[in-house]
Amino acid sequence: MYNECGDSMEIKNRVKELTRLLEKYSYEYYVLDNPTVSDQEFDALLHELINIEEEYPELKSSDSPTVRVGSIVLDKFEKVTHDVPMMSLSNAFSEDDLRSFDEKINKEVGNVSYNVELKIDGLAGSIKYIDGKLVLGASRGNGAIGENITSNIKTIKTLPLKIDYLDDLEVRGEIFMSKKSFAKANIERVSNNLEEFKNPRNAASGSIRQLDSKIAANRGLDMFIYSIISPENHDIPLHSKALSFAKELGFKINPLSKICSSIDEVIEFISLYQEERNNLLYEIDGIVIKVDDISLYNKIGYTAKSPKWAIAYKFPAEEVITQINSITFQVGRTGQITPVANLNPVIVQGSTVSRATLHNEDYIVDKDIRENDYVIIRKAGDIIPEVVSVITDRRENNSSPFSMIKECPVCNGLIVRNTGEADYYCVNPLCDALKIEGLIHFASRKAMNIEGLGDRIVEQFYNDDFLKSIKDIYLLKNHREELIIKEGFGIKSIDKLLENIELSKKSNLDKFIFGLGIRHVGEKVSKVLANHYKNLDNIGKWVFDDLINIDEIGDVIAKSVIDYFRKEENITLLNDLKELELNMVYKSNIKIKDEFNSKTFVLTGKLEIYKRDEAKDLIESLGGKVSSSVSKKTDYVVVGTDAGSKLKKALELGVKVLTESEFKDLLDR
Ligand code: NAD
Repeated sequence: MYNECGDSMEIKNRVKELTRLLEKYSYEYYVLDNPTVSDQEFDALLHELINIEEEYPELKSSDSPTVRVGSIVLDKFEKVTHDVPMMSLSNAFSEDDLRSFDEKINKEVGNVSYNVELKIDGLAGSIKYIDGKLVLGASRGNGAIGENITSNIKTIKTLPLKIDYLDDLEVRGEIFMSKKSFAKANIERVSNNLEEFKNPRNAASGSIRQLDSKIAANRGLDMFIYSIISPENHDIPLHSKALSFAKELGFKINPLSKICSSIDEVIEFISLYQEERNNLLYEIDGIVIKVDDISLYNKIGYTAKSPKWAIAYKFPAEEVITQINSITFQVGRTGQITPVANLNPVIVQGSTVSRATLHNEDYIVDKDIRENDYVIIRKAGDIIPEVVSVITDRRENNSSPFSMIKECPVCNGLIVRNTGEADYYCVNPLCDALKIEGLIHFASRKAMNIEGLGDRIVEQFYNDDFLKSIKDIYLLKNHREELIIKEGFGIKSIDKLLENIELSKKSNLDKFIFGLGIRHVGEKVSKVLANHYKNLDNIGKWVFDDLINIDEIGDVIAKSVIDYFRKEENITLLNDLKELELNMVYKSNIKIKDEFNSKTFVLTGKLEIYKRDEAKDLIESLGGKVSSSVSKKTDYVVVGTDAGSKLKKALELGVKVLTESEFKDLLDR
């Protein structure tokens, strides 16, 4: 409901503003092939307008962006009137949207089968054949009138110029550029000092609408056909049959389509390709769901813009555009200084992102990232948000280039960048940031796992002088009385925390070593060191030459370990912690079990019985290994819910697949 805007004048103005923006962005996207906002931003504005028009139908104009397909038709091409309009598709963004689409169809015509197809990210093209010869290729244009792009269309090698079918035939499909051709086109553009194409869609669109068809020919365009116009004229009753008919005539049809008899099956197909999309040779931005029975189309009907018997499910955006409000700096436990972009919050792949890493000075300078810039962000490895590029067209005139800070933002101490390294480090061992981050790391789940001693509490206790070093964690019990009266705490929470701290004293040696936060010593190396030396009694005797002979340990790690254990303050810390009865002995909890011994496991999907780390620890404690990717060498793939590509790969390779409860049985055996 749109009633936050208050009076009707305000609503009218908003409609005007939305129309103006949507027209501007459509022009940039469809005509200039140079979008300046993300699809997500565009879709959000469009939906706002749709909502207003639903509530206030009197404000809907006949040429509103909500009823228009595509954009204006370029004069440089001859115009083509489509015999059958080239419509758009309505969008679904969630499972709920899909279910309500299905319900509407069921209500109208009962249960149906759907043909589901990949939504190729390119642009629509329509091709006419007369007497078996390709006579016309047209772009969608504004849906009613398109551009005559025949000579460019003919450069698409997979599109037949002649077919063995003499009736008049019109086919439609998606013109696209493969990821490989896109990369090649961009290399060429860079070497010719031209701006890179933003994505394969814009590249395909820009290439097919060239006046010189040699340019299009050079770009390696391709085309999947996804529909036959007026199928009834060719005795085709089902959409899936239309596709096989086109295939028989020699058209390129995407092989990854499926007939689904329920919406649940459709949803399953969607989640499979949501995971699998990065392994495809071309970009897809969603899945198209079409009722298979063509005879139902007229009954189900059409809106002004799209058929009601089809819908496009859009994948959550992987890359979105937002603005950088400021660039600040984080100091990590090793003193490493990381620049961070503070963003106008946006949703990326289903979660809100308000900060993105800028990695280091070189990264910012190379990409010329500045405060107030509009930038494209994405989740690197699908987890950590990072800035991919700057939209320089939207940069303010008075913006100034980034310059690196000269001193630590926390202690104002000296920061240094060693030769050959990209990062700056604060070298003040007394820097508060280093100490706080070090304490947080020590208490973290993967280290000593002290529940209740998270970021916020460590920082608060640090600032209140209860916690200045690791040793103080184990002396917190001496401050019990002061702590329980602190605001936000109480007897129960403090006693629980103190209990957890005591419990952590029994942590295994590898967790302890990891918790110390020695530079370059991660979880795995900590385990290797603990397993090799078994205890910390003799650290004085640990020498570089021994260390580098251990598997997984190279010069850099060995040097860092030696440096750490030679420092007076670290030796004192270890002695103090020993006195406080922290475990310094490696309890190898490996009890070899045949089913697990030397077996490689891969965990995939959402596990419900075990936490992922817990399952990993269990496998390792029984002599097995856990790997992150499936190969012929994998012995078992344990699948939770929503398992995707790894499960598929396991099935392809014939690797044994265990459900989580089968895995539990194996453990319990
Ligand atoms: P659409 O992309 O949502 O869906 C319709 C199109 O899907 C068809 O025209 C066809 O070309 C394509 N398609 C791919 N595979 C298909 C298949 N198997 N079967 C049928 N069709 C298939 O609609 P649209 O009208 O082309 O474009 C709207 C989209 O463009 C929106 O997502 C919007 O975000 C984006 N857009 C972005 C901007 C921007 O500035 N970022 C501006 C305008 C539009």
